[in-house]
Amino acid sequence: MKVGDIIKKPIQLIIKNATYFAADKFNFGHILVENGQIKEIVADLSNEMAAETVIDAAGKHVFPGLVDCHVHFREPGYIHREDFFSGSCAAAAGGFTMVFDMPNVNPPTFDVENLQKRIALAEAKSLVDFSFYGAAGFANRCALQPLIDAGVFAFKTFLNPAPKGKEDVFFGLTVDDDGQLFLLMQEMAKTKARFVFHCENYELIKSMEKLLCERDETGFDFHYKSRPAVAEVESVATVIAFAKATGVRVGIAHITVPAACALVKQAKKEGMDIIAETCFQYLIYDESYIDKWGPYAKCNPPLRSQKQVEELWNYVVDGTISMVGSDHAPFVREEKEAGISGKIWQASSGLASIEVSLPLMLTQVAKGRLVLEQIPKLMSENICKNFGLYPKKGCIQPGADADFTIIDAAASHTIDKNTFYTKGKDIDELFDGEQVQGKVVYTIGRGRVLFADGRVNEGFAGSGVFVGLWAEE
Ligand SMILES: [Zn+2]
Repeated sequence: MKVGDIIKKPIQLIIKNATYFAADKFNFGHILVENGQIKEIVADLSNEMAAETVIDAAGKHVFPGLVDCHVHFREPGYIHREDFFSGSCAAAAGGFTMVFDMPNVNPPTFDVENLQKRIALAEAKSLVDFSFYGAAGFANRCALQPLIDAGVFAFKTFLNPAPKGKEDVFFGLTVDDDGQLFLLMQEMAKTKARFVFHCENYELIKSMEKLLCERDETGFDFHYKSRPAVAEVESVATVIAFAKATGVRVGIAHITVPAACALVKQAKKEGMDIIAETCFQYLIYDESYIDKWGPYAKCNPPLRSQKQVEELWNYVVDGTISMVGSDHAPFVREEKEAGISGKIWQASSGLASIEVSLPLMLTQVAKGRLVLEQIPKLMSENICKNFGLYPKKGCIQPGADADFTIIDAAASHTIDKNTFYTKGKDIDELFDGEQVQGKVVYTIGRGRVLFADGRVNEGFAGSGVFVGLWAEE
């Protein structure tokens, strides 16, 4: 080598001919990535520019990496259902570069020690970046701040007592009644954290179950009849009333009922700091799928009536619902079969859905239910804004993490559960065989090509990192 030679080191990645989403619209350019971050977006690509990897995105759409704000990866405690490797492979195959994992594992994520154990487990196995909701219950109500300091900005609580004999598994996850809920919210209000709820009135459901049993109404429809819309509406109303009185910032997980959305809309109008998430299944499937598929369509809250599904869209369009998650909650087949050989209430509740969330939402674009620009907003940008990750994540601009989801909006295919990475693929009867339009072609996390050519690059296991959430001031 002579003095004066310029050593041109190839940069990490170029995504050329990119129709990419930024500032509320699709733009065109070539995206240059270095050290896991977006270095520059250029209009002209110099011929001399070399890269370790070049992806030609002509004819495709490039979204900021999608974030699933609601998953259950089950580790530790229930790894027969999922673990951080299988779950993160499924996430990458589904187009997600980051997930927020829920705290109802064993032991639940109710203190820093358990959080750190989970971080270590995920760091060893996960392909995608991850964050954790903390468990908040009456039992650990005075020990929340250390979790927040450790990067847990959002907490989840179930508004029902722990099942008898399972108190340890539910430690820190539950409140017994509204009185405990109010005191817990008073404690949470001393922090800046976001408090997220599964809203269904437990006592109402218990009474409905008893009544239906007495009447011997024990078909598959038992599931949605015992969990009527009013159970959600009442619960959302209580959370809003208590949030108003205590000043805590709240979130409603998987909202499904239009009347509950109307309450959220009104609370927002009054200036309350409240966010609402729904899941794609509540926008697409109605309760007739429970009649048909029984336990395989069983999730909580239940799928709603066709009219309610229709009306739920209004609140996505008007922005009351700002996030769409998957509530990926895998089980093994036997846990669902229990509801076929016995009664539906004996089956576990949840869908293994992270690999179908995006293609099913893209199909709704093809059907004209929403415009393509809303997908990166509902499934990435808004989530990152709500949880303090923006603009490090959730946007395509220099300095942001090089997280991308590249899709082919025109490609149709048939969902085949046998191709899935989730351990819960055997329970995916509801989605299997569905015709969809819109396909993930690349998932790229901090410049690493995690998914391409229909396959996950499993060599990236352990390269995902913990990203702490924080409160926007
Ligand atoms: Zn969930």
